[in-house]
Amino acid sequence: MRRRKLDPAIGEQTAQIRAHVKAQLFERDIFCRGCGDLIQIANCHMHEGMISRGDVQGWPRERRHLIFSIFNCVLLCPSCNVPADGKNPPPRDRVFDEQYALYGAPMIDWLIALPFKHRPAWLTAKLKSFGVY
Ligand SMILES: [Zn+2]
Repeated sequence: MRRRKLDPAIGEQTAQIRAHVKAQLFERDIFCRGCGDLIQIANCHMHEGMISRGDVQGWPRERRHLIFSIFNCVLLCPSCNVPADGKNPPPRDRVFDEQYALYGAPMIDWLIALPFKHRPAWLTAKLKSFGVY
């Protein structure tokens, strides 16, 4: 099987999209979404809170940037993003509930529109509770 040649422009676009989303999150996430500590702009991490990069490895490369969205991403302190000091990233289920409280139905629509062939089981269960099958 031939490997597809990686397009360096996609990597650059992804970096730009991530920076744009992170800038938006600075206005939303004052506190770490893991532990609640005050976010320090110079030292915080953007975390894919529901749909991870691992979840989208099967997607075409040019569509994987879709997960870098204010619906999916949250800011974490460094200890929560790289588990340390007994801290951990927030569970996906909790991020889902918090994001839904912030965004409501548009977040559900965003999740439904993602190009999964098979949604992660936790997400299928969550969406079922909203009547989405
Ligand atoms: Zn934290």
